[in-house]
Amino acid sequence: MAILVLGGAGYIGSHTVYELIDAGRDVVVADNLQTGFRQAVHPRARFYQADIRDRAAMDRIFEEEQIEGVVHFAASSQVGESMTDPLKYYDNNLCGTTVLLSSMVAHGVDKIVFSSTAATYGEPKRVPILETDPTSPTNCYGETKLAMERMMGWVSRAHGLKYVALRYFNACGAHPSGAIGEGHNPETHLVPIILQVPNGQREYVSIFGEDYPTKDGTCVRDYIHVTDLAQAHVLALDHLLRGGESDVFNLGNGVGFTVKEVIDAARAVTGHPIPAQVSPRRAGDPAQLVASSERAKAVLGWAPRYDELETILSTAWSWHRSHPNGYEEEKA
Ligand code: UDP
Repeated sequence: MAILVLGGAGYIGSHTVYELIDAGRDVVVADNLQTGFRQAVHPRARFYQADIRDRAAMDRIFEEEQIEGVVHFAASSQVGESMTDPLKYYDNNLCGTTVLLSSMVAHGVDKIVFSSTAATYGEPKRVPILETDPTSPTNCYGETKLAMERMMGWVSRAHGLKYVALRYFNACGAHPSGAIGEGHNPETHLVPIILQVPNGQREYVSIFGEDYPTKDGTCVRDYIHVTDLAQAHVLALDHLLRGGESDVFNLGNGVGFTVKEVIDAARAVTGHPIPAQVSPRRAGDPAQLVASSERAKAVLGWAPRYDELETILSTAWSWHRSHPNGYEEEKA
């Protein structure tokens, strides 16, 4: 039996495929390669170029492969873009998941682990955030992810599907082997953007807003190493395959860093001055998001290994330094 990873050519998906294969799983990857990269797919995974909105393509995979569980990353994930192009988020994230779940139900595949986000909470009333805290997204990305969680809930009641939603905080870093890392085109995430400066691709970092109610006025986020996130997917899948119940877990390190602190840490790691300039706020950004991940530790046995910001940034820097154009140059 195999595990189907949708979006397995993307950043968190590709790292999860590496962890699943290391854990001895047979893995099938499907990705439309709109934002993912073929080079990021583990050489031992079977690859289908397919879009989750394409029902015939999903049916074909479930018919050709013996799938016992699905890990679902195939979604659009940029806060800023979701505010200017919300229909893209409804289409890719919600319509896509509707098609995927319809095909799973039709083929009797009843276990799914999927990417949710801290953006489901919106502006939290307190930090660290617990899974039971209210959800009130401030951006369309978080809204569609919350709707995906709820869709799973109703499908679970009607058809017996079991799901685990993993609410990620800020994924960053790269595989410790240096084999894969964080490549987006265009790049919008803070850590890779910062590292473009010492890599000579950008003159300075723009800090989106300095008037938030935080210690230095810049947004606070909980940065978590992508390999630790990937491990949580392996554990969540084990939980479902053992007959565990549907559940929702936060995944973060429980420590918040401001944008300025992340830039400072990157200066220390790279030895580069990394100039920064304050620019206007980005629409949809909550002031602070910090996780309590105690449930994931207690229920799944999750134990993050790369929880120091400097370690996270060092792994990111070693990948970016050796891949200054991400995966793009490998295409040439
Ligand atoms: N950010 C920034 N400059 C950038 C990119 C991001 O100041 O060029 C800020 C952004 O406003 C947010 C934090 O960095 O407060 C993390 O943003 P990112 O897009 O990496 O992740 P998100 O929190 O949106 O998931």
